[in-house]
Formats: sequence, C-alpha cells, structure tokens
Amino acid sequence: MAFKLADLPYAFNALEPHIDAKTMEIHHDRHHKAYTDNLNKAIEGTPADNLSIEDILKDISKYTPAVRNNGGGFYNHNLFWTMMSPNAGGMPTGNLADAIYSTFGSFQTFKEQFSNAGVTRFGSGWAWLYLQDGTLKIGSTPNQDNPLMDVSEIKGIPILCLDVWEHAYYLNYQNKRPDYIAAWWNVVNWEEAGRRFGK
Ligand code: MN
Repeated sequence: MAFKLADLPYAFNALEPHIDAKTMEIHHDRHHKAYTDNLNKAIEGTPADNLSIEDILKDISKYTPAVRNNGGGFYNHNLFWTMMSPNAGGMPTGNLADAIYSTFGSFQTFKEQFSNAGVTRFGSGWAWLYLQDGTLKIGSTPNQDNPLMDVSEIKGIPILCLDVWEHAYYLNYQNKRPDYIAAWWNVVNWEEAGRRFGK
C-alpha cells in the first residue's frame, strides 16, 4: 500500500505573482515526488507499509533517517499545498481569528512572529502555527521534521505551515527569504487553516 503523490489542488501558475509557476512545478513534480517515492522505498516490506503517515510520524524515532526525512517531506508538502490558494490571503476569520487575537494580541503581531520563525530557521526547514494542549504556538523545525514527530522540539497539531527550504523560493527570490515570506501571506488559505483549527 504505497503512498501516492496527489495532484496540486490548483494550476502551477495559480499563485503568481507571489509564487511562480516554475517553482511550483519543480517543487511538486520533483521534490515532493522524490519524498513520496523515497518514503515508499524506505518502508517497502516493513510493518510501516500498512500504517497511516500520521501513525508513522508519531513514532518516528523508531524508524530510519530515510523514513524520517521522506515521511516528513511527504506529509509536510501535502499540508503545504492546501495551506495556499489563489485569491486567498487576507486575514483569518471565526474561531481561529479569535484564538490568534487572544494568544498573540493582534494579527500583526502573530504575522511578525510567524514570519520571524521562518526567517530565522537556519538552513532548511519549516515554520509552524500549531496547537499544543489547546494553545496556539509558533515555532520552526529543521529539515523535514514536523510537530507530529516524537523527536520534534515542538509538538502539537499543525494548523499552518510554511516551507522555507531554498527550493521553495530560490528561482524567483534567490537568497531573499524574507521577501518570499512577505509575498506568501498573499496566498495563505485561511479557510483551510480555520477548518483544521475547528477539528
Ligand atoms: Mn519543499
């Protein structure tokens, strides 16, 4: 029962001008595909073959580095594609907006802290808004780690995530990660983040 690479939920050019079509195409068709293929290779013929990706991640310390890196890459990108949408951006609404205001004081403060988590993650990794014991928190992880992993310094349920690997932005933004992050807010799918928070 191999994991499958799902199609993007929109066209490669749907997030332009904020994220360019070529970046999206390479990111999905090559990087995400490689994580998926290498995850399948790493678990083939092992008991993990019959587990959900979430069940693998929660006990990731029991697996090989190949499962950790590629299982994280498979899961994180699945999530990341849904966290963006054409004609999105703006601000959260409903319960998630209320929780953001009460936790961080204002949307602007939240945005600054989340952006900062992405900007300051040294090397490759991810920024996260996650729910830990009912509280919203902001943090970052190295490589393809995520808050579902038992080895992660930050643990909880992902609500929003941002890929800050160079492959996510280098073609269009080169070394200017802060510019990529500033543009990314224009494509954040708050509806999906709100749906995840509601669950
Ligand atoms: Mn990526």
